[in-house]
Amino acid sequence: GNEALLSMQEKRESNARSYPRRLPLAIKRAEGIYLTDMDGKQYIDCLAGAGTLALGHNHAVVREAIQDFMKSYVPLHTLDLTTPVKEAFIDEVFASLSSSFAEKAKIHFCGPTGADAVEAALKLVKTATGNRSILSFQGGYHGSTHGTLSITGTTAPKENIHALVPDNHFLPYPYEYRCPFGIGKDGHRIGARYIENVLDDPEGGIVKPAGIVVEIVQGEGGSIPAPVAWLKELRRITKERGIPLIIDEVQTGIGRTGKMFAFEHAGIEPDVLVLSKAIGGSLPLSVVVYDRRLDQWEPGTHIGTFRGNQMAMAAGCATLRFVKDNQLPEHAQGMGTYLTAQLKSMQKQLCSIGDVRGRGLMIGVEIINPMKQSNQIGSYPAHPELAKKIQQECLNRGLILEVGGRFGTVIRWLPPLIISKEQVDEVLHRFYEAITSAEA
Ligand code: PMP
Repeated sequence: GNEALLSMQEKRESNARSYPRRLPLAIKRAEGIYLTDMDGKQYIDCLAGAGTLALGHNHAVVREAIQDFMKSYVPLHTLDLTTPVKEAFIDEVFASLSSSFAEKAKIHFCGPTGADAVEAALKLVKTATGNRSILSFQGGYHGSTHGTLSITGTTAPKENIHALVPDNHFLPYPYEYRCPFGIGKDGHRIGARYIENVLDDPEGGIVKPAGIVVEIVQGEGGSIPAPVAWLKELRRITKERGIPLIIDEVQTGIGRTGKMFAFEHAGIEPDVLVLSKAIGGSLPLSVVVYDRRLDQWEPGTHIGTFRGNQMAMAAGCATLRFVKDNQLPEHAQGMGTYLTAQLKSMQKQLCSIGDVRGRGLMIGVEIINPMKQSNQIGSYPAHPELAKKIQQECLNRGLILEVGGRFGTVIRWLPPLIISKEQVDEVLHRFYEAITSAEA
C-alpha cells in the first residue's frame, strides 16, 4: 500500500526531494488525467509533471511511438550520430515554428533536463557576443544547476550554495498583482523604459549583456503572464541593442498557453528558444533552437553523453504531431478561457482568492489574507498557510494541484492539454469544495 512505499522512500531517498513532501503519494498507475495510488484511490492530475504531460499520462500515441521505436532496432543511444528518428523529430520541431524562424534556425540537443538546455543557451550567447553578463527577471525560474540557479530569482535554494556564476542581474518582471511596474497600460511602458534605462545608463551597473532570458509566462514564479505590450517592448529594446533574447519555453512550449509557443501571443520571435518538458513526450529531452548567426561556438562547447535520447525523440515527434493534428493549442485556449472565467466567478464569492490569471492551460490563483493590510498597491498579503491547506483539501478530494510562486501562495494549474470540458467541470467542483472547506 501507500504507507509501505512512502516509508521506504523516506528511509532511502535524499533530503533534497521536493514534491513528495507536499504530495505524499505512491503511484501505481496513470492514464490520461488520472493517477491511481497504491491503495486504489484515484486523483486528477493538474500538475502533470509540472507541465510536461501535454497529452496526459501514457497516451496511446506516445505508447505506440515507443513500441514502434523498440521494434525498429534504431539505436537507443548514439551520442551525436544521426538517425531517421532524430531527423524526423527535427522536421517536426522546425515545422512547428514560423517559416521565417525555421529558415534561419539551428538546433542543438542538450542533456535530459531543461536546465541543461538553458546552460547551452547561456554559453551560446556568451560565445557569440563575447560578452559576459546575463540579465534575467525577478521570479524567473531556469533550473537548479550552478549556472541556471544564478539567473533564477528564487533566493532560498541559493543560501547555502556559494560561488554561483557572477555578473548576472535581475530586472523586474511585470507581475501585475504585486509589482508596480506592471500595473495598468502605463505600468508596462514604465517597466520597459526601466530596462532601457538600466541598459543605457553608463552607471547602471551592467557590463555588456550577452543575453536576456525571459519566460513569456513565469511558471515556478507563480503562473504570471507577461503583458503583450511589455513583451513587444522587450523585443524592440533587445533588437535595437543587438542583445540576443533567450525565450525559455521549457514550461510554456508545445501548446500549453493556447499557442504552439507562447511568444506567438506577442507576435515576436526569440533569438534562442529553449525547449524541454513536453518536447520529449514524457521522456527526458531538451533542445535549444536558435538563429544560425549565433552558431559560433566551437565543437565541444556544450557536450554530454546523453544528449539526444532517441526514444524521447520518437515520443516527442509523435506528441508534436498529435498536438498539431488535433489543434490542441486551440483546445487549451478554449479550456483555459473557460477554467479562468469559472475561477474568476469563484473569486467574487470567496475572499481568499486575490487574483486569477493565466494564458491557456497555465493558470495561477493567488491565495491572500484579506484581513491584513498590505503595503503593496492594489494587493493583499500572501497567505501561504491557507494555500497549503487548500492543496491538502484538494488532495483529500482526489485533485492534485501545485502550490508555488513568490510567497508559496499561488495555486498552479497545469492540467494535460487533452482535458475535456466535463473533466474541467469536475476539477472545478472539487476545487470549490476544497477551498470552501479550507476557508471555514
Ligand atoms: N525553465 C523553466 C521555465 C522551467 O519551468 C523549468 C523547470 N520547472 C526549467 C527551466 C528547468 O527544467 P528542468 O527541471 O528540467 O531542469
